[in-house]
Formats: sequence, C-alpha cells, structure tokens
Amino acid sequence: MNDVLANADLDAALEEARAAFTARNPASLARFTDAAAVMPGGNTRSVLFHAPFPLAVARGEGCLLWDLDGHRYIDFLGEYTAGLFGHSHPAIGAAIRGALAGGINLGGHTVVEARFARAVCGRFGLERVRFTNSGTEANLMALATARARTGRGKVVAFAGGYHGGLLTFAGGGSPINAPFDVALAPYNDSAGARAVIETHRADLAAIIVEPMLGGGGCIPGTPEFLASLRQGASEAGALLIFDEVMTSRLAPGGLQSTLGIRPDLTTLGKYVGGGMSFGAFGGRAEVMDVFDPRRADALPHAGTFNNNVLTMAAGLAALTEVYTPEAAAALNARGEALRARLNRIASGTVLQFTGLGSMMTAHFRAGPIRSPADAATGNAGLKELFFFDLLAAGLWFARRGMINLSLPIDDAACDALADAVAEFTALRGRLLAAD
Ligand code: PMP
Repeated sequence: MNDVLANADLDAALEEARAAFTARNPASLARFTDAAAVMPGGNTRSVLFHAPFPLAVARGEGCLLWDLDGHRYIDFLGEYTAGLFGHSHPAIGAAIRGALAGGINLGGHTVVEARFARAVCGRFGLERVRFTNSGTEANLMALATARARTGRGKVVAFAGGYHGGLLTFAGGGSPINAPFDVALAPYNDSAGARAVIETHRADLAAIIVEPMLGGGGCIPGTPEFLASLRQGASEAGALLIFDEVMTSRLAPGGLQSTLGIRPDLTTLGKYVGGGMSFGAFGGRAEVMDVFDPRRADALPHAGTFNNNVLTMAAGLAALTEVYTPEAAAALNARGEALRARLNRIASGTVLQFTGLGSMMTAHFRAGPIRSPADAATGNAGLKELFFFDLLAAGLWFARRGMINLSLPIDDAACDALADAVAEFTALRGRLLAAD
C-alpha cells in the first residue's frame, strides 16, 4: 500500500482508538485529573504514564485486574515482572499475614532474613548476598562495590540498557543518572563492546549488563556476546555485573545458569521478594565480604528496610514454596510456547514478539531485532494502536509492548491473548503488511 495512504489510515485509526479509550474510562480520567493537582502528571512512577491518560486499577485477583470503571482485564503485564505470583497467591498471603502477626519494624535481625538469604544464594549460585529495597539500589550498590574494590572509576554499560531510575541508558542516558563515569557500548556487538572496554581498560571498575534487555525490548544477549564481556572484564581486572533483576525468573538459576557464564556480581529484584519491595546484590564471598562489619576495613551498607519483615517472609515463601525450580521451568515453557504461537499468528506482518520464556515484547518491525537501535526503528503508531486495541479486548500489558506471564496465567488466558492478537492482525491487516 502507498505509504502516505497507510499513514493517513493509521492516524485516523489512532484518533478513533484514543477517543474510544477516553469515552470508555471516565472514572480513570477523573482520578488522573485529580491526582495531577498533587503529583506531577498525576504520577509517581514514570513508566505507568501514557497519553491521553493511564487507567487506574481498582483491584486484582489471580491474573485478573479491574479498573475504576469496572472493566476486567487479564493481567499480561505482571507488574513488569515483579508480579510473577499474581495478585492473591495463598502462600504469599499467608507469609505476609504471619509476618504481620509477629510485629513490624522490629529494628533487629530476624531468623527469617538468613533463611531467605540462604534460599537466594542457593538458587542463584551466590556465596553471599545483601538485600536492598529496589533493583535500582542493588545496582547502585554493585557499581559502588566494584569501584571500591578495584580503586577505579569507569563503568561500561550498554546503550538502551536499563538498571534503574538513576541508571537509564536509553537515548544516550538520562540527565538524572547517578554520576558514575559511564562509557556506553553497543549491545550484542562483541567487537564494538571489546573496543570500548579496551579504551577504558586501565580505569575500568565494572561492566554492567542485562543478559537479556528487559525494558529495552526483551532482546536476548547472544551467548557469544555475553561470553566476550566475561573475558573482557577478566582481562581488564574489572568486575562483570549481571543485572538479573528481570531475567532471574527465566530459569531456575537465573539466565546466567543457562548461559554457563558466572559474573562477579549479580543483582536481583522484582519477584524475588514475593511481590514486596526488593532488591539484592551478591556474588563471591571474597568480593562481598568487604561488607562484613567485623572487619576493620568494612564498607558500610545501610538501609532501614533492607531486612523488613514483610519482604523477608514473602520472599522466603515465594522462592521455596511457590516459584520452585519446577515452577520456573513450567512458566518459562508456557511463555516459549505462547511467544511461538503469537509469532505464527503475526507471520507475514510487521508484528513480531521477541523475548525468552515468560517475558516478551511486541515490536512492529520486520527482520531480526538484536539491539535497541533495531527496536527503535519500529512503527510507534502501530504499537500504540496495538495497545489500545488489546486493552479494549480486555488484555492488560505495557504500553511499550511488554508482556510477562504470571503463575495464574492458564491456557484460557493464553488463548484470550492469542485470539486478541489474531483479531488485531485481521482487523488492522492493511496497516501491518510487511514490505
Ligand atoms: N534493572 C532492571 C533490568 C530493571 O528492569 C529494573 C526495573 N524495571 C531495575 C533494574 C530497577 O528496579 P527497581 O524498579 O526495583 O528499582
């Protein structure tokens, strides 16, 4: 189809979809207007905003959500991977109620925190771990640890990578990034990355990388690329940090276990705290023991809520009773099958789903997507239309196209998503034709 005609059709379809969304959601709009009087843009978490206004969620149960206007959605967002257990898992609820019964804000060590630490270490191949309150904080601590250990200042990160609100490397970085001295390298480009590492070799403290870009578009790192970073870090005497805040869910031992690559430090977050606020960084004892307060030269690691009783109890139950290695294998197999099915439905169009296991992202671009630069050339208008069309069909997922499975997602939920994608490709076929 002629490009000019296609763009006019897309603009008209988008205008219609936005108007229908606004008309359908008056209570969410009123909430948004009200909140904007006291919160910048009615928002306290930037990713949740989208034009013309975001929906407000009234409640959740299992893998279902209801918005303020009473519409029901199947939750394929899974709280950007933190909501792996769904909204009302009985074992997590019991653990939290048990912790509440024992009192909160105890201001001391508990037995549960070391049990949880043992479970986390055992699962992800760490000798020592420290808890934080978020993935952002875990990454800040991991980078600070690498700088202190090496006595060097430089950090290599990857263009399009995301390691937290203060460690954002899309679009060249953010003005509010933490003031680490960062050199950006290209993702999935071993030669390009090794050249950047070589340039900064003498002052290189750390290389930080997600083994699959999560927020950056569910783009898996190739084993060859990640292995070359391992080698580059070792040769430079720098620490390799795997940010597995999202990807640790992709295999029982985290994505690193399937790659057979052992980073010096691993950071965790999201679901590992059972859905409570959580972050962690850990690795070899010899690296982490700089935080041992018995040492005269110990480094400080503070945080009022690092061992808060709700996270410790929920995380312990989550990892040992709920997201067992078997459950992890099953959830990721379900995700693999779903992604393959969606790609079959979308074949012959510009729509494709990248990812691994229980995480995927919809892209509107034909051809391989190996980097954020590839993903950035996708059709943004089609992505927006996809979002509104699927919302109208009762599917909740990220405006940026991210879809994450949670444990209560069953065959019927997968069928509903597959049907909605099939309907979208049928209805919008003219706009989706691959050249
Ligand atoms: N690293 C990665 C890979 C993430 O996806 C995120 C959160 N989306 C973070 C770090 C930051 O975690 P938090 O939001 O808990 O600070």
